[in-house]
Amino acid sequence: MSLLIRNGRVIDPAASIDGVQDVLLKGDRIERIGRALAVPDDTPVLDATGKIVCPGFIDLHVHLREPGHEYKEDIASGTRAAAAGGFTAVCCMPNTVPVNDSPEITRWMQAPERRALVKVRPIAAATLGSSGQRLTNFHALVEAGAVAVSDDGRPILGDGIMREALEAARRLGIPVIQHAEDTRVTQGAVMHSGATSFRLGLRGISSDAEATIVARDIDLAAETGAHLHVAHLSTAAALEHVRKAKARGLRVTCEVTPHHLFLTDEEVGDYDTNCKMNPPLRSEQDRQAMWEGLRDNTIDCIATDHAPHAAHEKDQEFDRAPFGITGLETALPIALMVASGDAQLAVRWLSSNPAEVMGWKEAGTIQAGAIADIVIFDPEQEWVFTREKSRSKSKNSPFLGKRFSGRVRHTMVNGRLVYSV
Ligand SMILES: [Zn+2]
Ligand SMILES: [Zn+2]
Repeated sequence: MSLLIRNGRVIDPAASIDGVQDVLLKGDRIERIGRALAVPDDTPVLDATGKIVCPGFIDLHVHLREPGHEYKEDIASGTRAAAAGGFTAVCCMPNTVPVNDSPEITRWMQAPERRALVKVRPIAAATLGSSGQRLTNFHALVEAGAVAVSDDGRPILGDGIMREALEAARRLGIPVIQHAEDTRVTQGAVMHSGATSFRLGLRGISSDAEATIVARDIDLAAETGAHLHVAHLSTAAALEHVRKAKARGLRVTCEVTPHHLFLTDEEVGDYDTNCKMNPPLRSEQDRQAMWEGLRDNTIDCIATDHAPHAAHEKDQEFDRAPFGITGLETALPIALMVASGDAQLAVRWLSSNPAEVMGWKEAGTIQAGAIADIVIFDPEQEWVFTREKSRSKSKNSPFLGKRFSGRVRHTMVNGRLVYSV
């Protein structure tokens, strides 16, 4: 089975390709890329004139809620939302019920019975039950398909256990992904500590609670030589620590979410629970620092931290509502906005850089011979994100009703169309 994607602007930063070309697929692979490719008359053609053809997006941070919280999301619905957002691979966090701390659950998540539409790459728990006490069996987890370890939702707090985790991960060549939050000082806090939290009378989460853990982790990464990946970086102070670590040549990488690039703590307004997430929306100065960090490569990539919650959970007092918002379907237009319309930059942040962070040579590129994981998007098309459009089971997004520029048109996984609009 062949398919010719004709006349699109092909962007593949990893292969230094950016220009109008044709892409010929054969089976699950890319057969050839070139100008005005000659193909047999009966080859099906997908016209991509005026659109961008690039490697499928890779999200290093999603919550698919299965097993345990299928009323919020399951692997089938979460990956439908991923495909609609242009993602062909998603790394799912282990804070399911039960916690994914075993090879059995890791395998179960990837089984065909889960009906995933895009590739699911589990991130397994670093400690049993993510309780921060005893390491899981990293070797067995990696054999079962885990691509990294993390206790996301919680930090790996103790110095000793974090050091052990980094050492074990280094031996296996996987990153430890840290949710950097000193929970000893954030108990009961629900939003960023600043003028808005003061006005609303809510307990605030300080920037320091993030920065101190990032600094501690960088010291441990230096000591162990391991790969530390900082999840959802949100403060200028933590960013500065990562900048210095990279300058020292340490293997430290990090991600930022679309919402930390786009919104500030002021958006919480009158206790809007769709603006409650952890880490919280920060100050305008922090938000600008995130843009800066992406542009100077201190921040490696954009990851959504897609965190679905049911309406009845978000529809309660701000203090009681759970942390998190959905994000898979609205990441591209926000990336394009931060890139000031430079599509190549957006593709780096969503495709090639996350692949590089994970050391995936086969992913994040569409050169000849590569697996055909492809997204085709219209960088100019305007559209409105609505509840009806959303493929996620949950609708907890601050972007509902928002007009965006830049829309995913087709998503292909292993050469198969999984989304088209
Ligand atoms: Zn987290
Ligand atoms: Zn998360």
